[in-house]
Amino acid sequence: MNDGNDIIHISNIDNNRTSAYMLDIENENKILLIEDNPGDARLVEILLMESDLINCTVTNATTLKEGMEILEENGDFAAILLDLSLPDSRGFETLEEFIFKFPHNNVIVLTGFSDKNLGIKAVKAGAQDFLVKGDFDADILSKTLRFSIERNAVLKRLEETQKIAHIGSWSFIPQEKKFTVSDETYRIFGFAPKKDSFDYSDLSNPEHPFYFFNIIHKACLKQHPETLKGDWKIEGIDGHKRSVYVQCNSQRKSNNITVFNGIIQDITDRKQAEEKMITSQARYQYIFSKSKDAIFIATFDGRLTDFNHATVDLTAYTGEILRKYTIQQIFGNVKFWDKIIADVQKGKMVKDIEIEFIDQKNKKISCLITATPHESENFEGFNCIIRNITEQKHAEELRKARDVAKQSAQLKEKFIASISHEMRTPMNAILGMSNLVLKTDGLSEEQSNYIISIKQSSEILLGIVNDILEVATLQNGKLKFENNEFDLFELLANLVNVMIYKMNEKDINFELVINEDVPQFLRGDKIRLNQILYNLVGNAIKFTDEGSIVIGVEKINESVGSVHVKFSVKDTGIGIPEDKIGAIFETFTRIRTKDRLFEGTGLGLSISKDLVEYQGGKIWAESELGKGSTFYFDLILETANSQLELAAPEEEEVIKQLDSNYSFKLLLVEDHKMNQLVAKKTLERQWKNIQITIADNGKIAIDKLEKETFDIVLMDIQMPVMDGYETTAYIRSKMTPAIANLPVLAMTAHAHISKDEKFKEYGMDDFVLKPFEPDQLFDKISKYIIAKQS
Ligand code: ADP
Repeated sequence: MNDGNDIIHISNIDNNRTSAYMLDIENENKILLIEDNPGDARLVEILLMESDLINCTVTNATTLKEGMEILEENGDFAAILLDLSLPDSRGFETLEEFIFKFPHNNVIVLTGFSDKNLGIKAVKAGAQDFLVKGDFDADILSKTLRFSIERNAVLKRLEETQKIAHIGSWSFIPQEKKFTVSDETYRIFGFAPKKDSFDYSDLSNPEHPFYFFNIIHKACLKQHPETLKGDWKIEGIDGHKRSVYVQCNSQRKSNNITVFNGIIQDITDRKQAEEKMITSQARYQYIFSKSKDAIFIATFDGRLTDFNHATVDLTAYTGEILRKYTIQQIFGNVKFWDKIIADVQKGKMVKDIEIEFIDQKNKKISCLITATPHESENFEGFNCIIRNITEQKHAEELRKARDVAKQSAQLKEKFIASISHEMRTPMNAILGMSNLVLKTDGLSEEQSNYIISIKQSSEILLGIVNDILEVATLQNGKLKFENNEFDLFELLANLVNVMIYKMNEKDINFELVINEDVPQFLRGDKIRLNQILYNLVGNAIKFTDEGSIVIGVEKINESVGSVHVKFSVKDTGIGIPEDKIGAIFETFTRIRTKDRLFEGTGLGLSISKDLVEYQGGKIWAESELGKGSTFYFDLILETANSQLELAAPEEEEVIKQLDSNYSFKLLLVEDHKMNQLVAKKTLERQWKNIQITIADNGKIAIDKLEKETFDIVLMDIQMPVMDGYETTAYIRSKMTPAIANLPVLAMTAHAHISKDEKFKEYGMDDFVLKPFEPDQLFDKISKYIIAKQS
């Protein structure tokens, strides 16, 4: 029965040791008496029974062997009374043997009068106490037993406590070279528990498992042992590394002997947990401080208690101000924040709510807010993450705007392409008819002049349509540039040849100045370069009535494989007002002059600007009103190594014209009545014996081709029912070889047909642009018919 206060129940402790705790001194205690003398044994029993101090039962063993067997079978004895002279063992060895086998048992040695010193020695070796036979009565025996049982119980309790707390103890006495460690210290160093005391000088060997205490002792000698406390790392003989806490103490005994002792505690688990915590804290701290998102902790009244650097960056406030102001003062949007705080206060999480605020520098910032409640022992508030999405939003808006712009540019180009087609078709008729009328007999001079005027106006109109189409293509960024070798000098000479007549008409002097260091052979897009120069020189002629025009070319610098060239076109014309110079490169800009109206659309310079800039160059103008203007542009062009690399100049094709009496059959596939008439009349004027069959669309054309034989087909592209591409593809792939091999010339008002060469893909041999130049049309027809004959 447990009724005393000193009973401690502890579970999960091994049996041998639990007994110490369960011992109740008032209850019956089992005593093992190892005594061979029956008289002595009986005396002990009688004395114990007489005593009121202890309640016990005695088991008697008469040999050491028997005693040990009893203990092995049932170790639950509160004390062992051991006679040191037994039949199978005598003297001090008996004790040593016994303690070696049962280190945790509570032994009281019985000695004879003559062996009193042996008893003292036994206590030093680990016995609890000793009694001299014949010298004790019931009181002494029971007091000794009782004291020893209690002391043993306390010791065992201490040992258990050490085991639970992982605290071991150690002591060393340098003067006596003695070193002792507790069971738990053994365990900490990876041993099974032992009760050993060994020579301290052994520890100076680094291989010794307790060498660590040698280090500790040395440290104790250097500093006051009491100050030696702290964490160390050790490695046990089991190879495990452990963290230990060591604390020392020193005591000077009366005989001038100093005892160093202390505790060693295994704190590996705590250390690991601490390290884990430190690592995770460090990790969070790192994320916190390096995060691009503003992160802060705030109280429910909106005070920031902790914030990262990104918060400072986002708000553009100093840390000091952030600590002083409330969230509402920092970010504005008072109602919004009140609502967020109310939500988190109710324990809700707020995720990715978008708001805008004005930062300290008056910049509008868009951001996403995420807030979660934050409660700890002495804090109530919330965590908040703010992601700045201003740039993202801006990029998104730009992307949308770009998509819209792209879409509208595509629509515009489509629209312009179809308008240009719609305009070109009737203009084809006007120009064609004008040509036909001019060829009729009996026109008066006045009539001729009217027709010529009609023709010239139509040509101007056609130029405008072409320019508009070109601008649309450029603005859509669809232009591709060639990179072929060309002769710059030849290009300039041709330009002069074309322009010289106009200049002569106006009596303007002309000069071409090419600096000596300008390379003759270059690589690039010569057609585009020509177009730019043609535009600038054309303007110079148009806006100059007298004086001179100078085209200049100079080298700015040259590096391996390329040359930076500057072109200039200088005139002595009407000049441009200073405030208008910037505007002239914009589309449809023309400067009004009071007295004269110059023809033009205001597109030429805009086209030139695009063409230069697409090639990485710059175009600009300098001018003085009434004195003249100079237009400049620069380009970086690749250099061609030598003239040899140039492709042999294409020999101008000398086309043999078919004789005017030549008789052949032509199929004209065209839906527009006016154009049918123009083509028919133009061709019949050229060839008296031509037989022209007209088909209004591709389908009719295929029918006609199946029934009749033709020498050539003139095919419009845009037609109802079956267009020119489809029809040609059908002819080439589905019809008999004689028909499939007929020459087919595309006729189109789409100016860019020559660029995309789509007509070739569909199997057409060549194209003529509407409105057609009669001579071009005659040349192409002659070329293909002659080729077919040979
Ligand atoms: P266009 O000549 O067809 O009107 P441009 O785009 O080529 O269109 O020129 C735009 C305007 O710039 C012209 O209308 C004219 O007012 C002015 N300009 C261009 N070149 C000259 C020049 N050499 N001298 C005076 N004014 C010029």
